[in-house]
Amino acid sequence: MQSSSFDVLVIGAGIAGATAAAHLAPTLRVGLIEAEEVAGYHSTGRSAAIWIQNYGPPDVQALSGLSRRFFEHPPDGFAATPIMARRPVAFLAPSEQEPLLERMLAEGAGLREIAVQDLRQMVPALREGYATRAAIEDDAFDMDVAVLHQGFLKLLRHHSGTLALRSRTGRVERVAGRWEVDIVEGGHFSAPILVDAAGAWGDAVALQAGVRPLGLQPKRRTGAIIDPQPWDARDWPLLNDCDHNWYCRPEARTRLMVSPADETDVEPQDVQPDELDIAIGIDRMQQALAIDVRRVEHSWAGLRTFTPDRSLAFGWDARSEGFFWFVGQGGYGIQTSPAAGRLAADLILGRDPGDAAAILPVLDPRRFA
Ligand SMILES: Cc1cc2nc3c(=O)[nH]c(=O)nc-3n(C[C@H](O)[C@H](O)[C@H](O)COP(=O)(O)OP(=O)(O)OC[C@H]3O[C@@H](n4cnc5c(N)ncnc54)[C@H](O)[C@@H]3O)c2cc1C
Repeated sequence: MQSSSFDVLVIGAGIAGATAAAHLAPTLRVGLIEAEEVAGYHSTGRSAAIWIQNYGPPDVQALSGLSRRFFEHPPDGFAATPIMARRPVAFLAPSEQEPLLERMLAEGAGLREIAVQDLRQMVPALREGYATRAAIEDDAFDMDVAVLHQGFLKLLRHHSGTLALRSRTGRVERVAGRWEVDIVEGGHFSAPILVDAAGAWGDAVALQAGVRPLGLQPKRRTGAIIDPQPWDARDWPLLNDCDHNWYCRPEARTRLMVSPADETDVEPQDVQPDELDIAIGIDRMQQALAIDVRRVEHSWAGLRTFTPDRSLAFGWDARSEGFFWFVGQGGYGIQTSPAAGRLAADLILGRDPGDAAAILPVLDPRRFA
């Protein structure tokens, strides 16, 4: 049984909660509360681990750009190994997707057209006749999500923050200017500020606290690992079509991760993969690549949780004092996390958010009030 009082309680120790907690800990007494036995069990441990500048709405692209420097130059002692490794991203356009490609080239940053035969030099499995045109983002990269996540949790501990695992919030009540939080497993925490970083459960935590939900929608996404033999795929770019109907990327040197880029609405849960989604992903990938899939070695699914307008929701609730939303990270929560965590801390501490100030109106959860 734990009973502790803090300056701020952060609910959820995925990448969102870990980054917010780490950035707040030098200034405030932080309690990071996680329902599961390990931090990162849900979406954070299930991502495709790629950073792509040309991905997501403008607010996401802005935060991805602001996060890039952190990946390139993490603070001293943050991680023992690099947290990024270059991995270009190729966008393939079958003829009907050429208008999409044109738009991406006109509006995208760091994107260039590449001749399909040049792409085939990089990816010899690319079938003749699938794509009529293609573009490439050269400066995308793989992220080491586990090392990144642990780095932020280490920073939290370094600043004397507390991580409470196996601690699912139950009753959450505002009493005399503080959030009083009962833990289902036993124990009690309290703080004047509560940060809702509960991912797919963001609305559920709000309801516990008597706060009006934003209308978050978790969407299932599936990944499967296959052996691309006889191809050596380790240096291939991430490949996807311009309409984002599928993607695949090298995994663990000799394997390929394949996804149908599915977005199936589901309730918040420990989500599992659906056989049909795996088959669809492999079928779409095989239309582009001559890969004979004999066996799916491993598959999983995770939740990407969106606000109603698919932009992020970072900021104070419109009505409930001391309730801070840090949700709606969708399919970009890892690549935006360094700048997102800093921004959350700046807003909570009343600091100047610097270059992120321009996107604040788009992120403000009060837009749904
Ligand atoms: C297949 C897939 C591929 C992806 N690929 C990428 C990618 O390439 N790049 C990228 O940037 N992003 C990617 N994402 C998205 C990314 O994984 C998410 O945006 C990110 O992990 C969200 O982090 P989070 O901390 O908000 O959520 P989570 O990691 O789900 O953390 C929320 C935490 O809150 C806890 N919690 C919930 N309710 C309570 C409660 N009542 N009490 C205590 N704790 C609670 C949960 O247990 C959970 O640990 C992908 C996602 C999927 C599923």
